[in-house]
Amino acid sequence: MADKYIVCKDCGTEFVFTEGEQAFYKEKGFENEPQRCPECRRARKAQRNNRTSHGQGAGNRW
Ligand SMILES: [Zn+2]
Repeated sequence: MADKYIVCKDCGTEFVFTEGEQAFYKEKGFENEPQRCPECRRARKAQRNNRTSHGQGAGNRW
């Protein structure tokens, strides 16, 4: 196995999918390679967290 270079689907940046990460993915049973660079992945995660932490916002109704 060797490091792989993947182009991010979101921002087009080329990033390294390292040997260690490939092993990690395999161990987890992921069959697909990552589509996005770590930065975009982090951004997406943060976005999702924001949305869920907002909840339903129904508490202010009196
Ligand atoms: Zn990206």
